Amino acid sequence: MSIISKDISKAAALLSNEELVAIPTETVYGLAGNIYSEKAIKAIFETKQRPFFNPLIVHIPSVDYLDQIVASIPEKAQLLADAFWPGPITLVLKKKSTIPDLITAGKDTVAVRIPNHPTTLELLNQLDFPLAAPSANPFNRISPTKAEHVEDYFRDQIQMVLDGGPCKKGIESTIIGFENDDPIIYRLGSTPLEAIEAVVGKIEIKNSTALGIESQKKMAPSAPGMLERHYAPKTKTVLTDNLQKSIAQYQGKRIGILLYNDVLNDDGIDFKIVLTQGRNLNEAASKLYDALHQLDKQDLDIIIAERLPDYGLGKSINDRLDRATKP
Ligand code: AMP
Ligand code: MG
Repeated sequence: MSIISKDISKAAALLSNEELVAIPTETVYGLAGNIYSEKAIKAIFETKQRPFFNPLIVHIPSVDYLDQIVASIPEKAQLLADAFWPGPITLVLKKKSTIPDLITAGKDTVAVRIPNHPTTLELLNQLDFPLAAPSANPFNRISPTKAEHVEDYFRDQIQMVLDGGPCKKGIESTIIGFENDDPIIYRLGSTPLEAIEAVVGKIEIKNSTALGIESQKKMAPSAPGMLERHYAPKTKTVLTDNLQKSIAQYQGKRIGILLYNDVLNDDGIDFKIVLTQGRNLNEAASKLYDALHQLDKQDLDIIIAERLPDYGLGKSINDRLDRATKP
């Protein structure tokens, strides 16, 4: 029997009973539990096989709730919250002492956001606690953007996936931390860099893929969201600027292609997915993970992904593809 259901009250009842429920958001599906239940939070880490040093994002229903989670709000954090919430921006702020260490991996900061999905906002409004909700995939695997993706991963481990349809944004939230009250991008994501800079001015990126390998290793324990390999298919995947050359290199193998634009003849290719017909980066982002899920099911020897233009959501998509292709 399917664990996928649209019953919000049932999801609320399970969560109130310290169980886990997968929830829809505009970015990806989350594996949710009550932030104040040690049982639920431990179950999130166990189910995902996520290391305990990797902290969780707290999901709240409205800005009024923020005071219960964080100790202080820098001016530019407030500007970002006003501009983008509900929406795919996560703010990392000084935590209140009431936020459990399990959520924050012992750090004195907590990641928080208001998701922009009617089903999950309705659910959060029915609950009297916020939800911790990392992406609903096993650690290091492709994030889920459809209820079916979650069911494929966790049908034997959780009781319910709350169905909210396919995720409209399709890649994770942009994570922003603060150093001396100045915003810094910790993870590129569904809110484009340029939109953020329009609100707070030029912003530094401390995303691991923008850094050298040594800084990544140093940072990994303190800011694990930047783990180098992540979001990865099981099939070997490469990212290329030169499709023809990469295809020639793997001649004779079973090749799958992930294209931004359809400009290729199909010779020597076993399976092909085109992310967008009209150079639409929003569409490409929303289709990215489903495309990787599909490619991963085709029993290919190699997935060759075409690098996207390096602006707007293209930058965020390239970040995910970079991490999916790390050996
Ligand atoms: P996920 O929910 O799977 O998208 O992952 C959430 C990411 O948020 C983690 O991998 C962390 O890097 C990031 N994060 C959560 N809390 C913090 C924090 N206190 N400081 C820095 N990064 C955080
Ligand atoms: Mg994740």
